[in-house]
Amino acid sequence: MVLAGRSPASEVYVRNKIKTVGDAGCRAELFRLDDTATVDDALALVHRLNADEGIDGILVQSPLPAGMGEHAEQRVFDAVDPAKDVDGFHPANVGLLVQGRPALVACTPLGCIELLEREGIPLRGQQAVVLGRSDIVGKPMALLLLQRDATVTVCHSKTVGLADLARTADILVAAIGRPAFVTREFVKPGATVIDVGINTLTTKAEVERIFPEGSRKRVQFSEKGSVLVGDVHPEVEDVAGAFTPVPGGVGPLTVAMVLRNTVTAAEFRATRKAAM
Ligand code: NAP
Repeated sequence: MVLAGRSPASEVYVRNKIKTVGDAGCRAELFRLDDTATVDDALALVHRLNADEGIDGILVQSPLPAGMGEHAEQRVFDAVDPAKDVDGFHPANVGLLVQGRPALVACTPLGCIELLEREGIPLRGQQAVVLGRSDIVGKPMALLLLQRDATVTVCHSKTVGLADLARTADILVAAIGRPAFVTREFVKPGATVIDVGINTLTTKAEVERIFPEGSRKRVQFSEKGSVLVGDVHPEVEDVAGAFTPVPGGVGPLTVAMVLRNTVTAAEFRATRKAAM
């Protein structure tokens, strides 16, 4: 894991990933770059990790320090050996996913699929609507659903008639980064709702807009000064057939998929070496 700079949120993410990876019996090492590191420093580190036969997976924590320049993230992510790209962000892996070939796939959408499949929720022939078209969630999510024979609609900030489209979904995936945006009008009764969003609420007004008086979240807010909410409004619980909570839904699955991708990458490299 490569961590550049001192973002408190990134420190938490990286610490959690290292703990989970360690608990699962893998070796996890943290490589730090300080705030003043250049994009060349980051590239040199990635090249060193690419060449290290003892390393199966490389994760570069986003965001990189602003001082590295505008296109630093793309340059550094593109430098990761696609065979060690356990985040599934490399264009070579994205291309393989588009073609439906074996690839390392972005962990969050992979976790959503795992969740759907383990719950036995049918995908073939079902209407799926994905809210959000980011490279790391919305687009790969749509491709994974398409591969499983769902009929997929992808929506974004310029989509007209969002709620009406969302209401056609048997499976609705929300990945837009807008707190409690998806209200009951977006959801067909009985639909499966996957909430990818993780938003931190820090004002009383926001908390009171979303959570009713006496709710656990209001108590949590008064104790901690902040609470987490997804992109889906809690009232959707009454309409949906199945839904994922925030926190505790998609988030832990994402970390689990980092592990799965690491094992896949290790197996792939071992097979490739044996064939050489
Ligand atoms: P992102 O890169 O900011 O993309 C957001 C997408 O949502 C964009 O495609 C944007 O449309 C669309 N959007 C924004 N506002 C909208 C609106 N009002 N109506 C319709 N579409 C709208 O975000 P992301 O990285 O995909 O992340 C999305 C959320 O998932 C965030 O809350 C993030 O924290 C969370 N997340 C969670 C995990 C996890 O492990 N659970 C992992 C990754 C992300 P345009 O393309 O038109 O701008």
